[in-house]
Amino acid sequence: MRIDLQSIIRSAALLPLTLGAALAQDFDSVEMKVHPVSGNVSYIEGMGGNIGLFTGEDGVFLIDDQYAPLTDKITAAVRTVSDGPVRFLVNTHMHPDHTGGNENFGKMGTMIFGHDNVRSQMAVADYKEEPPLVTFSDDMSFHINGETVHVFKTPSAHTNGDVYVHFTGSNVIHTGDVYRTTSYPYVDVANGGSFLGTIKAYDLLIEVSDAETKIVPGHGVTSNVADVRAFRDMMLVIRDRVASAIRDGMSLEQAQGAGLTAEYDERWESGRRIGSAAALIEAAYADMAD
Ligand SMILES: [Zn+2]
Repeated sequence: MRIDLQSIIRSAALLPLTLGAALAQDFDSVEMKVHPVSGNVSYIEGMGGNIGLFTGEDGVFLIDDQYAPLTDKITAAVRTVSDGPVRFLVNTHMHPDHTGGNENFGKMGTMIFGHDNVRSQMAVADYKEEPPLVTFSDDMSFHINGETVHVFKTPSAHTNGDVYVHFTGSNVIHTGDVYRTTSYPYVDVANGGSFLGTIKAYDLLIEVSDAETKIVPGHGVTSNVADVRAFRDMMLVIRDRVASAIRDGMSLEQAQGAGLTAEYDERWESGRRIGSAAALIEAAYADMAD
């Protein structure tokens, strides 16, 4: 089961007991699966964002940590690969399906990093999850396990605090939710995301990748730069169509009903708000309608 429960979880206190119990049961039934990517880099699939896992003699480095009730399962999955300490963890962005385990890992002694905006926007959005304790403005580098891991800010895309994590020796990039292979991109406008910024972030990803680079999305499966290029090109088509709809005087609702994404919907429509064509067009409209 791979669903973005972020908005549901955030308001879990307001849920009727039955639904809260159903969610707890969902966590119980989640199975962690470790997918090797390249060298000592893998990712763990469970419920929520893909967790990057990098191991070696200096210890374990993680990217994101899904939901708090899953920490024991995540730790068990890490232990199938390494018995070293989980020393460092980077949050790719603020969302609860990527930061929910922060408090648990922090208590175990893991140092948690994220962009400045992850911490500040989690406060603005009144999230209950613990924000990263160490933040940075543009980029930072970890020199561990025999290679340099470069973490750097993307243009505001999914949120205003997105980073890419580049394993420069293993030639792997974890993109957080800027890129996903499960649906249309989700632009969280309320948390500083941007449709046009998402296109710029894909341009940046293409620029720093080569033909061999393994690209691990926030949700979905390992991809390559050709996949990202095709996704970026789709976004350019959608951008131009929404711009033309705006020039033609269409309202947002008219643009959403005009079939602007028709040939892509079968592959990418999520069928719910996050990852839907309607939400994507809304974000594009918001960026270009001024
Ligand atoms: Zn997200």
